[in-house]
Amino acid sequence: MSIGSTQATSRPLPDLSVAELRAWMQSNGFNGVHAPRVVRSLLATKEPENRADFLWPEKLNARLMAAFAPESTAVVQRQVSADGTTKLLLRLHDQRSVESVLMHDYRGDRAAGCISSQAGCAMGCDFCATTQTGFERNLTSGEIIEQFRHLRREARAADRVLRTLVFMGMGEPMLNLKNVLAAIERIADPRLGAFGWRQITISTVGIVPGIDELREANLGVQLAISLHAPDDATRADLLPLGRRFSVNEVLAAADRHQAASGRITTIQYCLLAGVNDSPAQARDLARLLAGRRMHVNLLRYNPAGISLRGRIYEPSSPARTEAFLSELRAHGTVAHLRRARGQDIDAACGQLRKRQAAQSSSA
Ligand code: SF4
Repeated sequence: MSIGSTQATSRPLPDLSVAELRAWMQSNGFNGVHAPRVVRSLLATKEPENRADFLWPEKLNARLMAAFAPESTAVVQRQVSADGTTKLLLRLHDQRSVESVLMHDYRGDRAAGCISSQAGCAMGCDFCATTQTGFERNLTSGEIIEQFRHLRREARAADRVLRTLVFMGMGEPMLNLKNVLAAIERIADPRLGAFGWRQITISTVGIVPGIDELREANLGVQLAISLHAPDDATRADLLPLGRRFSVNEVLAAADRHQAASGRITTIQYCLLAGVNDSPAQARDLARLLAGRRMHVNLLRYNPAGISLRGRIYEPSSPARTEAFLSELRAHGTVAHLRRARGQDIDAACGQLRKRQAAQSSSA
């Protein structure tokens, strides 16, 4: 059975929860006690067809291989940056595609993974390449887990350990929260031993009911808010969702999540030249966060071409970026500048997929 095949003729094994697998085993005459071992093996990226790696009966393995596809996604393109950032374009079983990214940590043995929750995105953030091709569909929990597996393989091939996972790729995780949480529950289940809750971050553009649902799920994962502006007018101009939820409403939801989970919220702020990068805006942001234990992560913008609204955004200059950071810190805000990564490849989220789609349609 070919792992590389994207033609899933049956449900892929990574899509099943432990409970579903146990029920299938029991109804097919096997002992359900093997279910966690099978899922643990999948999360460890050991392929069930490698007989030496599994600890369940050969007969069960043969039935599993006959009943389920081993995987439903395939890496169809792989870009590697000079800084080690590796961007994967994954083909899904229905020929749609998503991106996953492995980023090397400055510590030589670690890496972070960035995964997608949807194919395309409906949120319409004006500076984003992903949304330019619209929303296609939610990813299944299995497709999310398969991204984790692909990234773990990439990390191992680079002699690194995948230490953190962020839902910051294509799509808005809060709009596919059921499948995102189902995937996280397996990846971070202590009995399955792949990852811990704190190693996982869900990033949202600020969907308040989703943040509250995440809090109620009580998983203890980290939350990141893509704020990108300290005031409602600038934010709504960049992010259509800003017209639905005000900055104060979004931060209040983050406060609730933080109070319940004890996890410090990260505020993502992508600096766009002449749009949201003035010293006054830095002071407004610092004022907004005063009294809150939140960290600001300043992001360098990776140009994504002409925006949905026909604009061309540029990254803030190094001097302007430094001034913004200094202003935040001078006003007591904990802030960091995230290192630019993958500048020599299609670094912006959705850019590789967009390029691939354009090449296919002109072929
Ligand atoms: S930035 Fe995120 S939420 Fe906004 S359009 Fe892009 S993928 Fe969607």
